[in-house]
Amino acid sequence: MIRNALPGSGESSNSLASSNATKPTHLPSVDAILNWPAVSGLCEAHGRTLVKRCIQSTLAQYRGPQGPSEAPSQEAITSRVRVALESQIAPSLFPVINLTGTVIHTNLGRSIMGPEVVDAVASSMGHFNALEFNLETGERGDRDSIVEALLCRLTRAEAATVVNNCAAAVLLSLVALGARKEVIISRGEQIEIGGSFRMPDIMRAANCKLIEVGTTNRTHLRDYEQAISERSGLIVKAHRSNYAVTGFTAEVTDADLGPLAKANNLVYMVDLGSGALVDMSRFGLPREPLPSDSLRAGAELVMFSGDKLLGGPQAGILVGSKAVIARIKKHPLKRVLRISKMVMAALEATLRIYDSDHLLQERLPVLRMLTRSADEIHQVAVRVAPMLAAIAGDGFQAEVVSCKSQIGSGALPEETLDSAAVCLRPLDATKPGSRLQKALARFRSHNPPVIGRIRDDTLVFDCRCLLQEDERLLRESIRA
Ligand SMILES: *Cc1c(COP(=O)(O)O)cnc(C)c1O
Repeated sequence: MIRNALPGSGESSNSLASSNATKPTHLPSVDAILNWPAVSGLCEAHGRTLVKRCIQSTLAQYRGPQGPSEAPSQEAITSRVRVALESQIAPSLFPVINLTGTVIHTNLGRSIMGPEVVDAVASSMGHFNALEFNLETGERGDRDSIVEALLCRLTRAEAATVVNNCAAAVLLSLVALGARKEVIISRGEQIEIGGSFRMPDIMRAANCKLIEVGTTNRTHLRDYEQAISERSGLIVKAHRSNYAVTGFTAEVTDADLGPLAKANNLVYMVDLGSGALVDMSRFGLPREPLPSDSLRAGAELVMFSGDKLLGGPQAGILVGSKAVIARIKKHPLKRVLRISKMVMAALEATLRIYDSDHLLQERLPVLRMLTRSADEIHQVAVRVAPMLAAIAGDGFQAEVVSCKSQIGSGALPEETLDSAAVCLRPLDATKPGSRLQKALARFRSHNPPVIGRIRDDTLVFDCRCLLQEDERLLRESIRA
């Protein structure tokens, strides 16, 4: 697979025509090349349109400043056309090897899913299905009904619905429940999530009037009480996913805010962000708040992501009281933010794994990665160290060391997990910066790309996320 191998491959035939006037060598015409047997074979396999575009970009290369002064041979031109074609047909979304040590890495697509979830998605794409069709009555159905019962069982909610992501769930809830009303939130929870999701901006977009209470480090129940007026619509709590407030702090819990909201006829909404469906301490991980905790304590509405700790597809899951979920589902924005059948298939398959409570670590790759022991990861690192050294090339010394991995995507920001990494240290310690950057770029241009990081003048490749399948990909890429 060759990506972006040829600059100027998008050149139009118009600019070719004008550069024809100054061409340094005699080149065959596009039509002539199309008739060469090897090239017409390419046309049969890939279509004339693509091949023609590749011939044009190849000819433009020959005419460019780097082009040869001698006329190139038929074989040389054909081979360049082939290379251009390979880069044209290679997908832009392809597997990369995540050795960053961050398990839920937003820039690398967050959760990966296991075979049973992948199969469910593939089946949903290749067949019709009863996405919004009631097979008993033959009438139109509700797409949420596919996962609602599962979600209610797993979170002990009365009702549930799903939208495109958790940011969408927050926006939709604020629009449906709080538009033209005041929304009360603590100053300590004015969160910004990566990718420019900022709570005050979302409130503005939802036409809510933001009422900040308390201070950055301390907010008390009386702060909320004093802020309530006849214009209030919601009390909101946002989970501090990607930062922590420590030291002299005070925060009001769900158990106080739920009853306060209820007594004043307001909705108490909790944006959990990550949100796990099982107690992570069962697996020796730090505890992450569960939607069921907030609901039991008195929240009327809780939202969380599908592709953070849950380990499923990108989705925003809303669980809560029947009345509040019904108001949300009635809003036109719900239709705008609905999830696709592929996402629905992935979500259902993922939730069924949780519902079974059977072999979760084996069936949920995110959980498997998070719960791998440092010893096991160490063994992986020992196996792949020679492979990574081979990609780095001469001038590096490989060593397996202990390190710390991150959970990522705002889940448990302060927690790290003991792990193991392959370190590649430059033998020549002069000017390490550019040497390391160049080496890291070499890893990124490997097929498949290997993503690591630089720490203390060393390339670090944390092996926590290298499961069997990716290890196989890496091994085969070295043999090739
Ligand atoms: C991650 C996060 C979001 C956004 O979730 P997406 O699914 O990425 O849209 C919203 N709120 C909190 C608290 C988060 O941690």
